[in-house]
Amino acid sequence: MDKPMSLSTNKNYDVVVIGGGIHGVGVAQAAAAAGYSVALLEQNALASGTSSRSSKLIHGGLRYLESAQISVVRECLRERTLLLKLAPELVQLQYFNIPVYRETTRRPWQLQIGLSLYALLTGMHRSARFSRVPKSKWSSLNGLDSNGLQAVFRYYDAQTDDALLTRAVMNSAQQLGAELLMPCKLIAAELGDDYSSITYRHENNEETVNARVIVNATGPWANRVLEKITPTPKTLPMELVQGSHIVLDGKTEEGIYYMEAPRDKRAVFLMPWKDKALIGTTETVFQGDPAEAQPLASEEEYLLETVAHYFPRYRDTRREDIIERFAGLRVLPSSGTSHFARSRETILHPDRHNKPRLLTIYGGKLTAYRATAEKVIKRIGESLPQRKPVADTRKLKLTPP
Ligand SMILES: Cc1cc2nc3c(=O)[nH]c(=O)nc-3n(C[C@H](O)[C@H](O)[C@H](O)COP(=O)(O)OP(=O)(O)OC[C@H]3O[C@@H](n4cnc5c(N)ncnc54)[C@H](O)[C@@H]3O)c2cc1C
Repeated sequence: MDKPMSLSTNKNYDVVVIGGGIHGVGVAQAAAAAGYSVALLEQNALASGTSSRSSKLIHGGLRYLESAQISVVRECLRERTLLLKLAPELVQLQYFNIPVYRETTRRPWQLQIGLSLYALLTGMHRSARFSRVPKSKWSSLNGLDSNGLQAVFRYYDAQTDDALLTRAVMNSAQQLGAELLMPCKLIAAELGDDYSSITYRHENNEETVNARVIVNATGPWANRVLEKITPTPKTLPMELVQGSHIVLDGKTEEGIYYMEAPRDKRAVFLMPWKDKALIGTTETVFQGDPAEAQPLASEEEYLLETVAHYFPRYRDTRREDIIERFAGLRVLPSSGTSHFARSRETILHPDRHNKPRLLTIYGGKLTAYRATAEKVIKRIGESLPQRKPVADTRKLKLTPP
């Protein structure tokens, strides 16, 4: 169990982090490792937002190569290699199968080039290998339809339990002295030059703590939290895009399957998940309260249609057969382009250029949380006193809580 500390009202901290998703706990860990005093406020439970509703992949993002987001892919692959080393019980290599049919958009030669580049960006790690599954082995691929099948590519990425990983990082932060205030919801904050005050609700009480720097790591809630701060900071225009997953009974054999949805050619994954099958995801513009994100009936139909297209054994599966469902919200910069092609760079948004008192994290990847946290600490360093680092997050082992 995560151990919320007793509340220390009116206490001063170097850094107060709002939000106990992967970014918040990552920043708490990095701040504590850098020697800063730090408290994290979470309104509900650790990983109760997006960080338990992701596709649970620790990956470079093969498809981001198509939109030339090379630096995102390189950073994620670097972090993947590190997490495989630091958290072997939480992050495991998994192979991915990409079936190519006559009608598949990406042709074998394109995949060959994409996977070669992915391997090059991975470096010398054994996970850089990729291959073609020989035709003689196609019958072992979880009942994959072999009608019109031309090739099956296989490469490596990694899978995790996103909520467990989040809790493991918080545990590591707490071991370095970070405090967890939970359930505590920020209701107001006032920015000040030396310290900013943060008022939060805990049970039915209102309490206050002070921070030299506030880090707003509230994911899809980020702009709602900024509205509670005075003087009101500038917000960046963001769009929330819902991604839904469904869980079906029955084991998935031979790794993860990278499917092209017949309806709109998007990538959809079929993944083994706790002896069941996890299928996702979708992209639906979301408006409203992030706490109310739920898969839509139309999204569930889309996922069922996609998996049934490739795996005949799911052809009689109906929405009533879904045993679990969840939806998460991507935070993407507003722009006219399709969500699929939109940049996945993480944005760090300070309240002011020099000596920020507040930094908001927009977007980001579960995979790159540690690198993002490192950048946050670098960005807010000028607002903080000199402290002696006590650890290096590149060396801290993570174990299941
Ligand atoms: C469908 C989907 C699939 C994804 N798949 C992958 C993947 O496979 N691999 C990958 O690397 N990345 C993936 N991502 C991206 C990744 O999941 C997210 O970038 C990451 O989880 C975001 O974490 P966060 O900490 O920013 O936000 P969240 O996890 O949403 O955390 C925000 C927290 O802030 C808290 N909060 C909000 N308001 C307040 C308040 N007023 N006071 C206190 N606390 C508050 C919330 O309760 C919540 O716990 C996926 C994203 C989506 C949406």
